[in-house]
Amino acid sequence: MAHKCVFLDRDGVLNRERGEYTFLPQDFEVIKGVPTAIDELKKNGFLVIIITNQAGIAKGIYTREQMKQCHELLQEACHHAIDAIYYCPYHPTYSASLARKPDSLMFEKAMARFDIKPETSWMAGDKERDLIPARKLGIKTIGITESQAIGEADFMAKNLTEAVAIILEQHKKAPNK
Ligand SMILES: [Mg+2]
Repeated sequence: MAHKCVFLDRDGVLNRERGEYTFLPQDFEVIKGVPTAIDELKKNGFLVIIITNQAGIAKGIYTREQMKQCHELLQEACHHAIDAIYYCPYHPTYSASLARKPDSLMFEKAMARFDIKPETSWMAGDKERDLIPARKLGIKTIGITESQAIGEADFMAKNLTEAVAIILEQHKKAPNK
């Protein structure tokens, strides 16, 4: 049976957006409520997969190892409930990549590997470029921000806790869509 999934952007959704690259464990601050929100999704049968651009690697600002340390912290905070983390280390200045959002290759890889059905899946992100690839693939979108609406968003929420409440409510109304 095909799976339903909630795809998540990382910075600004799971950890606090600092306005610059976050790659040191001491700067990596998991947003309050995130572990509980992810637990709720898992309890309701959703896969939880992160899709993140990490162009700081291409730019030589930090290493894959440093990024992975931050992801280990995140997994620990979330009791290892995150099913997979896809990251794109490239930046157009250095090398083109169809993986980097707003392109959709990371999503497509995850969908093939985990047999994910787009109609019952969601993407939550704080930038339009997070939502563009999801929209293209028929995945529902939630913009997460406290400021103005994000283009391409089917729904808006202030944080992941609020986004998960919307997802579960919509899922209850129409479990197959
Ligand atoms: Mg972000």
